[in-house]
Amino acid sequence: MEAQNFDVIIIGGGLAGLCSAIHLSQSSFKVLLIEKNEYPKHKVCGEYVSNEVLPYLDFLGFDPLEFGAKSISNFELTTLNNKKIKAKLPLGGFGMSRYEMDFQLYKLAISKGVEVLKDSVIDVNFEADNFKVETKSNKKFQSKIVIGAFGKRSNLDVQFNRKFIKKKSPYLGVKIHVSGKFPEDKVALHNFKGGYCGVSKVENNHINLCYITDFESFKKYKDIESFQEEVVFKNSTLKEIFNNSEIQFENPLTISQISFETKQPIENHIIMCGDSAGMIHPLCGNGMGMAIRSAQLASELIIDYLQGKIESREKLEKYYAKRWQQTFSFRLKIGHTIAYLFRQNWLAPKLLIMLRWFPFLVPLIIKTTHGKPMKA
Ligand SMILES: Cc1cc2nc3c(=O)[nH]c(=O)nc-3n(C[C@H](O)[C@H](O)[C@H](O)COP(=O)(O)OP(=O)(O)OC[C@H]3O[C@@H](n4cnc5c(N)ncnc54)[C@H](O)[C@@H]3O)c2cc1C
Repeated sequence: MEAQNFDVIIIGGGLAGLCSAIHLSQSSFKVLLIEKNEYPKHKVCGEYVSNEVLPYLDFLGFDPLEFGAKSISNFELTTLNNKKIKAKLPLGGFGMSRYEMDFQLYKLAISKGVEVLKDSVIDVNFEADNFKVETKSNKKFQSKIVIGAFGKRSNLDVQFNRKFIKKKSPYLGVKIHVSGKFPEDKVALHNFKGGYCGVSKVENNHINLCYITDFESFKKYKDIESFQEEVVFKNSTLKEIFNNSEIQFENPLTISQISFETKQPIENHIIMCGDSAGMIHPLCGNGMGMAIRSAQLASELIIDYLQGKIESREKLEKYYAKRWQQTFSFRLKIGHTIAYLFRQNWLAPKLLIMLRWFPFLVPLIIKTTHGKPMKA
């Protein structure tokens, strides 16, 4: 059977994949998006999105507030010894579940003519200036461009022999939605030994509780409940939130092997977007912003290439790699440094005391890990 032909094939339908699919279809390109999971689906994520993405989402025809997203303008941080810092967020953000946001963007993508296939990509080959893409259910496709938007860890990272996949990563993430009392306009980060828990509200009034911790801290306990009881609840604010709310999930969602290793924005001529290109520490609450921003960077250059304004693939790849580094490498470095410093249990309370003395530093630090509003 002849392989079906597309201008662009996008592997992975999270935020990076969906936004680039919508963007490219708006310029009338034939786009295929392949996502291995069904929509809608919950994902382990803090679900706080920086407002820097709003102008671009508007350009794509998506207004999160129309679907009940909560506007967030205040930030709170508590430490192990229950010290608290409050600050105004420089740009603010919104709270929306990935269940809803990805689902609405998926529906928008379809309405704009994107072809969406539920399947898992198992191989991509580049030959004679064309890509050949193969899926688990034995379907074959061809395209001029492939965008890799398959997230932080995928079977394709193994297939492409990417460097980071060979290293073990000690981080795991846990998320649940609960109902209870929590201000709509606040995102909070609560520290516990070995990790952080983000708290904010999403569109249906549920509170998202999402924490990241290192496996060393976690493995001493037999299950999530005992870990929470013995470690997480040492932070009295977290204990109060967990104990005074009603769980909305049958079981918490978990992921492991979260890696913050450096990746390449171009791999085997594939243009990597979102977490596939590099992941910022969730402590910074900007991974989704970066995924959406990288979709914009990639789509703009791909359009120029497909319309002949960028004359060679070599130049396309060079421009994207350069723009990606210019836009994200500083944020990533700062994000990793902040996460490293706050991981030092002896240092974190001291840093917090310093921030309480100099509260104007908090918005400045937040600014360094976020971008400016994205011009569409
Ligand atoms: C604990 C935790 C908390 C976080 N909190 C926040 C936060 O509050 N704010 C924030 O901005 N960011 C946060 N992030 C980061 C954010 O979740 C990610 O940066 C964002 O989801 C990246 O989007 P993406 O589109 O690159 O990847 P994803 O959303 O992961 O999408 C990738 C998609 O690719 C699909 N896929 C993978 N392999 C294949 C294949 N072979 N074939 C087909 N499909 C495939 C997957 O099913 C998936 O749907 C957090 C991350 C973690 C781990």
